[in-house]
Amino acid sequence: MSHVTDLLHSIPSDPLTGAISVPIYQTSTYVQEAPGVNKGFDYSRTNNPTRAALEKLVAGLEHGESAAAFSSGLAAIDSVVKLLKSGDEVLAVDDIYGGAFRLYTHIYEKFGVKVNYVDTSRIENVVEAITPATKLVWLETPTNPTLKVSDIAAIAGVAKANDALFCVDNTFASPVLQNPLLLGADIVVHSATKYLAGHSDLIAGVVVCKTKELGDRIRFIQNATGAILGPFDSWLVIRGLETLHLRVKQHCKNALEVAQFLEGHPGVKKVFYPGLPSHFNHEVAKKQSSGFGGVVSFVLSEETIEAAKTFVTSTKYFKLAESLGGVKSLLCHPAEMTHKSIPAEIRRASGVSDGLIRLSVGLEEVQDLINDLELALQKVELKEKVAVNA
Ligand SMILES: *Cc1c(COP(=O)(O)O)cnc(C)c1O
Repeated sequence: MSHVTDLLHSIPSDPLTGAISVPIYQTSTYVQEAPGVNKGFDYSRTNNPTRAALEKLVAGLEHGESAAAFSSGLAAIDSVVKLLKSGDEVLAVDDIYGGAFRLYTHIYEKFGVKVNYVDTSRIENVVEAITPATKLVWLETPTNPTLKVSDIAAIAGVAKANDALFCVDNTFASPVLQNPLLLGADIVVHSATKYLAGHSDLIAGVVVCKTKELGDRIRFIQNATGAILGPFDSWLVIRGLETLHLRVKQHCKNALEVAQFLEGHPGVKKVFYPGLPSHFNHEVAKKQSSGFGGVVSFVLSEETIEAAKTFVTSTKYFKLAESLGGVKSLLCHPAEMTHKSIPAEIRRASGVSDGLIRLSVGLEEVQDLINDLELALQKVELKEKVAVNA
Protein backbone atom coordinates (compact mmCIF):
# COMPACT_ATOMS: atom_id res chain seq x y z
CA MET A 1 0.00 0.00 0.00
CA SER A 2 1.36 3.43 -0.85
CA HIS A 3 1.82 6.11 1.76
CA VAL A 4 -0.93 8.19 0.12
CA THR A 5 -3.47 5.36 0.20
CA ASP A 6 -2.51 4.63 3.77
CA LEU A 7 -2.97 8.21 4.69
CA LEU A 8 -6.33 8.73 3.01
CA HIS A 9 -7.67 5.79 4.95
CA SER A 10 -5.93 6.50 8.24
CA ILE A 11 -8.96 8.31 9.66
CA PRO A 12 -11.73 5.76 10.19
CA SER A 13 -15.27 6.70 9.19
CA ASP A 14 -17.34 7.97 12.09
CA PRO A 15 -18.22 4.99 14.32
CA LEU A 16 -21.55 6.56 15.36
CA THR A 17 -23.02 7.32 11.92
CA GLY A 18 -20.66 5.97 9.29
CA ALA A 19 -20.00 9.52 8.02
CA ILE A 20 -17.01 9.26 5.68
CA SER A 21 -16.03 12.88 6.32
CA VAL A 22 -14.58 13.67 9.74
CA PRO A 23 -17.33 15.25 11.87
CA ILE A 24 -16.76 18.85 12.93
CA TYR A 25 -16.91 18.68 16.74
CA GLN A 26 -17.95 22.27 17.32
CA THR A 27 -17.84 22.08 21.09
CA SER A 28 -15.94 23.73 23.91
CA THR A 29 -16.41 21.04 26.53
CA TYR A 30 -17.39 17.40 27.03
CA VAL A 31 -19.84 15.93 29.54
CA GLN A 32 -18.12 13.75 32.13
CA GLU A 33 -19.64 10.71 33.85
CA ALA A 34 -17.88 11.54 37.10
CA PRO A 35 -15.07 14.03 37.84
CA GLY A 36 -12.17 13.04 35.58
CA VAL A 37 -14.09 10.19 33.92
CA ASN A 38 -14.44 11.12 30.24
CA LYS A 39 -14.08 9.74 26.72
CA GLY A 40 -10.58 11.13 26.24
CA PHE A 41 -11.66 14.74 25.83
CA ASP A 42 -12.36 17.25 28.56
CA TYR A 43 -11.88 20.77 27.12
CA SER A 44 -11.28 21.83 23.51
CA ARG A 45 -8.21 23.96 24.23
CA THR A 46 -6.52 20.77 25.41
CA ASN A 47 -7.95 18.44 22.79
CA ASN A 48 -10.70 18.24 20.20
CA PRO A 49 -11.56 15.23 18.02
CA THR A 50 -11.57 17.15 14.71
CA ARG A 51 -8.26 18.80 15.52
CA ALA A 52 -6.88 15.46 16.70
CA ALA A 53 -7.78 13.89 13.34
CA LEU A 54 -5.86 16.63 11.54
CA GLU A 55 -2.88 16.26 13.87
CA LYS A 56 -2.76 12.54 13.26
CA LEU A 57 -2.79 13.08 9.48
CA VAL A 58 0.01 15.64 9.48
CA ALA A 59 2.13 13.58 11.89
CA GLY A 60 1.76 10.69 9.44
CA LEU A 61 2.64 12.85 6.44
CA GLU A 62 5.82 14.10 8.12
CA HIS A 63 6.76 10.75 9.73
CA GLY A 64 6.61 12.26 13.21
CA GLU A 65 5.41 10.83 16.53
CA SER A 66 3.10 13.72 17.31
CA ALA A 67 1.67 16.90 15.84
CA ALA A 68 -0.14 19.93 17.22
CA ALA A 69 -2.34 22.24 15.12
CA PHE A 70 -2.21 25.98 15.82
CA SER A 71 -4.25 29.02 14.88
CA SER A 72 -1.50 30.22 12.52
CA GLY A 73 1.92 29.29 11.21
CA LEU A 74 3.42 31.97 13.42
CA ALA A 75 1.68 30.56 16.51
CA ALA A 76 3.25 27.20 15.59
CA ILE A 77 6.70 28.82 15.28
CA ASP A 78 6.13 30.71 18.53
CA SER A 79 5.43 27.47 20.41
CA VAL A 80 8.79 26.06 19.27
CA VAL A 81 10.67 29.18 20.39
CA LYS A 82 8.98 28.78 23.79
CA LEU A 83 11.03 25.60 24.28
CA LEU A 84 13.95 27.99 24.88
CA LYS A 85 14.87 30.02 27.91
CA SER A 86 16.58 33.34 28.50
CA GLY A 87 20.26 33.18 27.50
CA ASP A 88 19.72 30.56 24.80
CA GLU A 89 20.78 31.38 21.28
CA VAL A 90 19.23 30.56 17.92
CA LEU A 91 21.12 30.06 14.69
CA ALA A 92 18.75 30.90 11.86
CA VAL A 93 18.75 31.03 8.07
CA ASP A 94 19.33 34.62 6.91
CA ASP A 95 16.56 34.63 4.29
CA ILE A 96 14.02 33.89 7.04
CA TYR A 97 10.25 34.40 6.74
CA GLY A 98 9.57 38.06 7.60
CA GLY A 99 7.09 37.20 10.35
CA ALA A 100 9.58 34.87 12.04
CA PHE A 101 12.21 37.63 11.93
CA ARG A 102 9.74 40.03 13.57
CA LEU A 103 8.86 37.46 16.24
CA TYR A 104 12.49 36.80 17.11
CA THR A 105 13.50 40.48 17.02
CA HIS A 106 10.58 42.27 18.62
CA ILE A 107 9.23 39.64 21.00
CA TYR A 108 11.99 37.23 22.00
CA GLU A 109 15.07 39.47 22.08
CA LYS A 110 13.60 41.34 25.04
CA PHE A 111 13.27 38.00 26.85
CA GLY A 112 16.98 37.35 26.32
CA VAL A 113 16.87 34.98 23.34
CA LYS A 114 19.52 36.00 20.82
CA VAL A 115 19.38 35.08 17.14
CA ASN A 116 22.31 34.86 14.72
CA TYR A 117 21.48 34.85 11.03
CA VAL A 118 23.71 33.04 8.56
CA ASP A 119 23.57 31.91 4.96
CA THR A 120 22.85 28.24 5.68
CA SER A 121 23.08 27.28 2.00
CA ARG A 122 26.83 26.87 2.63
CA ILE A 123 27.36 24.32 5.39
CA GLU A 124 30.71 25.86 6.44
CA ASN A 125 28.81 28.98 7.56
CA VAL A 126 26.72 26.85 9.94
CA VAL A 127 29.80 25.05 11.31
CA GLU A 128 31.49 28.40 11.89
CA ALA A 129 28.54 30.19 13.49
CA ILE A 130 27.29 27.53 15.91
CA THR A 131 28.38 27.96 19.55
CA PRO A 132 27.76 26.10 22.81
CA ALA A 133 25.02 28.68 23.53
CA THR A 134 23.15 27.69 20.34
CA LYS A 135 20.15 25.69 21.54
CA LEU A 136 18.05 25.85 18.40
CA VAL A 137 18.97 25.75 14.73
CA TRP A 138 16.21 27.28 12.60
CA LEU A 139 16.02 26.42 8.94
CA GLU A 140 13.72 27.11 6.05
CA THR A 141 14.48 25.32 2.80
CA PRO A 142 13.59 26.43 0.21
CA THR A 143 13.47 29.92 1.68
CA ASN A 144 11.07 32.75 1.18
CA PRO A 145 11.46 34.52 -1.20
CA THR A 146 14.87 33.74 -2.74
CA LEU A 147 14.36 29.95 -2.79
CA LYS A 148 17.67 29.30 -1.10
CA VAL A 149 18.22 25.59 -0.49
CA SER A 150 20.22 24.21 2.44
CA ASP A 151 21.40 20.67 3.10
CA ILE A 152 19.06 19.38 5.82
CA ALA A 153 21.01 16.21 6.65
CA ALA A 154 24.34 18.04 6.88
CA ILE A 155 22.90 20.75 9.14
CA ALA A 156 21.21 18.08 11.28
CA GLY A 157 24.67 16.59 11.86
CA VAL A 158 26.10 19.93 12.98
CA ALA A 159 23.12 20.64 15.26
CA LYS A 160 23.28 17.20 16.84
CA ALA A 161 27.04 17.42 17.49
CA ASN A 162 26.31 20.67 19.30
CA ASP A 163 23.31 19.34 21.28
CA ALA A 164 21.01 21.90 19.68
CA LEU A 165 17.44 21.25 18.62
CA PHE A 166 16.95 21.40 14.88
CA CYS A 167 13.69 22.76 13.47
CA VAL A 168 12.81 23.03 9.79
CA ASP A 169 10.02 25.24 8.48
CA ASN A 170 8.83 22.93 5.69
CA THR A 171 6.07 25.22 4.40
CA PHE A 172 7.49 25.77 0.92
CA ALA A 173 8.28 22.13 0.14
CA SER A 174 5.27 20.51 1.82
CA PRO A 175 5.54 16.97 3.20
CA VAL A 176 4.84 15.59 -0.27
CA LEU A 177 8.25 16.73 -1.50
CA GLN A 178 10.45 16.74 1.57
CA ASN A 179 10.45 15.13 5.03
CA PRO A 180 13.00 16.83 7.29
CA LEU A 181 12.35 14.44 10.21
CA LEU A 182 13.66 11.59 8.03
CA LEU A 183 16.76 13.67 7.32
CA GLY A 184 17.62 14.27 10.98
CA ALA A 185 15.49 17.22 12.07
CA ASP A 186 13.79 17.12 15.50
CA ILE A 187 10.86 19.38 14.67
CA VAL A 188 9.02 20.45 11.53
CA VAL A 189 6.69 23.44 11.37
CA HIS A 190 4.22 24.37 8.66
CA SER A 191 2.16 27.35 7.84
CA ALA A 192 -0.84 25.17 6.94
CA THR A 193 -2.30 28.35 5.48
CA LYS A 194 -0.26 27.53 2.37
CA TYR A 195 -0.02 24.12 0.65
CA LEU A 196 -1.52 21.92 3.40
CA ALA A 197 -4.87 23.70 3.30
CA GLY A 198 -4.17 24.83 -0.26
CA HIS A 199 -7.20 26.95 -1.10
CA SER A 200 -6.35 30.39 0.34
CA ASP A 201 -9.30 30.19 2.72
CA LEU A 202 -7.86 30.01 6.24
CA ILE A 203 -4.90 30.65 8.56
CA ALA A 204 -3.38 27.66 10.36
CA GLY A 205 -0.10 26.15 11.54
CA VAL A 206 1.26 22.78 12.58
CA VAL A 207 4.22 21.59 14.64
CA VAL A 208 5.35 18.00 14.12
CA CYS A 209 7.86 16.37 16.47
CA LYS A 210 10.07 13.38 15.87
CA THR A 211 9.72 12.07 19.42
CA LYS A 212 6.80 11.73 21.79
CA GLU A 213 8.79 13.48 24.51
CA LEU A 214 9.27 16.62 22.39
CA GLY A 215 5.68 16.38 21.17
CA ASP A 216 4.44 16.35 24.76
CA ARG A 217 6.43 19.50 25.53
CA ILE A 218 4.87 21.28 22.52
CA ARG A 219 1.39 20.10 23.55
CA PHE A 220 2.02 21.41 27.05
CA ILE A 221 3.03 24.80 25.61
CA GLN A 222 -0.02 24.80 23.36
CA ASN A 223 -2.40 24.06 26.19
CA ALA A 224 -0.67 26.57 28.47
CA THR A 225 -0.70 29.40 25.93
CA GLY A 226 -3.84 28.58 23.97
CA ALA A 227 -3.24 29.28 20.26
CA ILE A 228 -5.17 26.24 19.04
CA LEU A 229 -6.84 25.69 15.66
CA GLY A 230 -10.64 25.63 15.78
CA PRO A 231 -12.68 22.60 14.69
CA PHE A 232 -14.01 24.07 11.44
CA ASP A 233 -10.60 25.22 10.21
CA SER A 234 -9.15 21.86 11.25
CA TRP A 235 -11.75 20.20 9.06
CA LEU A 236 -10.88 22.48 6.12
CA VAL A 237 -7.19 21.59 6.42
CA ILE A 238 -8.11 17.88 6.48
CA ARG A 239 -10.09 18.40 3.32
CA GLY A 240 -7.12 20.15 1.72
CA LEU A 241 -4.79 17.32 2.70
CA GLU A 242 -6.89 14.81 0.79
CA THR A 243 -5.69 16.32 -2.50
CA LEU A 244 -2.27 17.57 -1.35
CA HIS A 245 -0.26 15.05 -3.36
CA LEU A 246 -2.12 15.88 -6.59
CA ARG A 247 -2.00 19.61 -6.08
CA VAL A 248 1.69 19.69 -5.24
CA LYS A 249 2.54 17.58 -8.29
CA GLN A 250 0.76 20.07 -10.56
CA HIS A 251 2.16 23.13 -8.74
CA CYS A 252 5.66 21.72 -9.39
CA LYS A 253 4.99 21.04 -13.06
CA ASN A 254 3.53 24.50 -13.72
CA ALA A 255 6.26 26.24 -11.70
CA LEU A 256 9.07 24.56 -13.62
CA GLU A 257 7.59 25.66 -16.95
CA VAL A 258 7.12 29.20 -15.67
CA ALA A 259 10.71 29.27 -14.35
CA GLN A 260 12.07 28.04 -17.69
CA PHE A 261 10.06 30.67 -19.56
CA LEU A 262 11.32 33.46 -17.30
CA GLU A 263 14.92 32.30 -17.53
CA GLY A 264 14.81 32.68 -21.30
CA HIS A 265 13.25 36.16 -21.26
CA PRO A 266 15.37 39.31 -21.85
CA GLY A 267 13.24 41.31 -19.39
CA VAL A 268 14.38 39.02 -16.57
CA LYS A 269 17.79 39.34 -14.95
CA LYS A 270 17.76 36.26 -12.75
CA VAL A 271 15.40 33.44 -11.80
CA PHE A 272 15.38 31.63 -8.46
CA TYR A 273 13.92 28.14 -8.66
CA PRO A 274 15.52 25.01 -7.14
CA GLY A 275 14.43 22.97 -10.16
CA LEU A 276 16.65 24.93 -12.56
CA PRO A 277 20.19 23.58 -13.12
CA SER A 278 21.35 27.23 -12.71
CA HIS A 279 20.18 27.22 -9.06
CA PHE A 280 23.09 27.39 -6.61
CA ASN A 281 22.06 24.25 -4.72
CA HIS A 282 20.17 22.38 -7.45
CA GLU A 283 22.05 19.17 -6.60
CA VAL A 284 21.18 19.42 -2.89
CA ALA A 285 17.54 20.07 -3.79
CA LYS A 286 17.50 16.98 -6.01
CA LYS A 287 19.06 14.90 -3.25
CA GLN A 288 16.68 15.82 -0.43
CA SER A 289 13.35 16.51 -2.13
CA SER A 290 11.29 14.74 -4.75
CA GLY A 291 10.21 17.99 -6.42
CA PHE A 292 10.93 21.70 -6.36
CA GLY A 293 7.67 23.33 -5.31
CA GLY A 294 5.32 25.95 -6.69
CA VAL A 295 7.12 29.16 -5.80
CA VAL A 296 9.32 30.93 -8.35
CA SER A 297 11.10 34.24 -7.73
CA PHE A 298 12.86 36.43 -10.25
CA VAL A 299 14.54 39.78 -10.62
CA LEU A 300 13.50 42.15 -13.38
CA SER A 301 16.25 43.41 -15.68
CA GLU A 302 15.05 46.88 -14.73
CA GLU A 303 15.85 46.41 -11.03
CA THR A 304 13.77 49.16 -9.48
CA ILE A 305 10.78 49.51 -7.17
CA GLU A 306 8.97 51.34 -10.00
CA ALA A 307 9.43 48.55 -12.57
CA ALA A 308 8.40 45.95 -9.99
CA LYS A 309 5.28 47.98 -9.22
CA THR A 310 4.37 48.16 -12.92
CA PHE A 311 4.85 44.41 -13.26
CA VAL A 312 2.81 43.32 -10.24
CA THR A 313 -0.11 45.55 -11.22
CA SER A 314 -0.15 44.37 -14.85
CA THR A 315 -1.01 40.69 -14.58
CA LYS A 316 -4.50 39.30 -14.97
CA TYR A 317 -4.33 35.79 -13.50
CA PHE A 318 -1.52 36.31 -11.01
CA LYS A 319 -3.34 38.29 -8.34
CA LEU A 320 -1.37 40.74 -6.24
CA ALA A 321 -1.56 39.33 -2.72
CA GLU A 322 0.59 38.08 0.12
CA SER A 323 0.63 34.33 0.76
CA LEU A 324 1.16 31.33 -1.50
CA GLY A 325 0.28 27.70 -1.96
CA GLY A 326 -3.30 28.14 -3.13
CA VAL A 327 -5.09 26.92 -6.24
CA LYS A 328 -5.10 30.41 -7.78
CA SER A 329 -1.81 32.01 -8.77
CA LEU A 330 -0.56 34.94 -6.72
CA LEU A 331 2.35 37.30 -6.99
CA CYS A 332 3.95 39.73 -4.62
CA HIS A 333 6.72 42.28 -4.34
CA PRO A 334 8.57 41.21 -1.18
CA ALA A 335 10.51 44.48 -0.72
CA GLU A 336 7.25 46.40 -0.33
CA MET A 337 5.03 43.65 1.07
CA THR A 338 6.08 40.51 2.97
CA HIS A 339 9.58 41.79 3.79
CA LYS A 340 8.77 45.40 4.53
CA SER A 341 9.40 44.85 8.26
CA ILE A 342 13.04 43.87 7.59
CA PRO A 343 15.47 46.84 7.43
CA ALA A 344 16.44 47.62 3.79
CA GLU A 345 20.19 46.86 4.22
CA ILE A 346 19.52 43.46 5.83
CA ARG A 347 16.84 42.74 3.26
CA ARG A 348 19.03 43.53 0.26
CA ALA A 349 22.03 41.70 1.73
CA SER A 350 19.95 38.53 1.96
CA GLY A 351 19.11 38.79 -1.75
CA VAL A 352 15.69 40.45 -1.58
CA SER A 353 16.42 43.22 -4.08
CA ASP A 354 14.03 46.01 -5.07
CA GLY A 355 13.31 44.28 -8.40
CA LEU A 356 12.51 40.89 -6.92
CA ILE A 357 9.08 39.42 -7.67
CA ARG A 358 7.74 36.26 -6.05
CA LEU A 359 5.22 34.05 -7.84
CA SER A 360 3.04 31.41 -6.27
CA VAL A 361 2.27 29.37 -9.33
CA GLY A 362 -1.24 27.97 -9.10
CA LEU A 363 -3.16 25.25 -10.85
CA GLU A 364 -4.39 27.16 -13.91
CA GLU A 365 -3.44 26.08 -17.45
CA VAL A 366 0.25 26.88 -17.55
CA GLN A 367 0.14 28.52 -21.00
CA ASP A 368 -2.37 31.07 -19.69
CA LEU A 369 0.02 31.88 -16.85
CA ILE A 370 2.99 32.25 -19.19
CA ASN A 371 1.03 34.55 -21.52
CA ASP A 372 0.02 36.61 -18.50
CA LEU A 373 3.66 37.06 -17.45
CA GLU A 374 4.77 37.80 -21.02
CA LEU A 375 2.26 40.66 -21.31
CA ALA A 376 3.29 42.13 -17.95
CA LEU A 377 6.96 42.01 -18.97
CA GLN A 378 6.08 43.84 -22.19
CA LYS A 379 4.34 46.50 -20.15
CA VAL A 380 7.46 47.05 -18.02
CA GLU A 381 9.58 47.37 -21.18
CA LEU A 382 7.13 49.83 -22.75
CA LYS A 383 7.16 52.04 -19.64
CA GLU A 384 10.94 52.01 -19.66
CA LYS A 385 11.03 53.17 -23.28
CA VAL A 386 8.58 55.97 -22.58
CA ALA A 387 10.70 57.06 -19.59
CA VAL A 388 13.93 57.07 -21.64
CA ASN A 389 12.34 59.11 -24.47
CA ALA A 390 10.71 61.61 -22.15
C1 LIG B 1 3.30 32.10 5.75
C2 LIG B 1 4.52 31.53 6.38
C3 LIG B 1 4.66 31.50 7.76
C4 LIG B 1 3.64 32.09 8.70
O1 LIG B 1 2.44 31.42 8.66
P1 LIG B 1 1.00 32.09 8.98
O2 LIG B 1 0.08 30.96 8.77
O3 LIG B 1 0.83 33.21 8.01
O4 LIG B 1 1.06 32.57 10.38
C5 LIG B 1 5.79 30.91 8.28
N1 LIG B 1 6.75 30.39 7.48
C6 LIG B 1 6.66 30.45 6.14
C7 LIG B 1 7.76 29.88 5.32
C8 LIG B 1 5.55 31.00 5.53
O5 LIG B 1 5.47 31.06 4.21
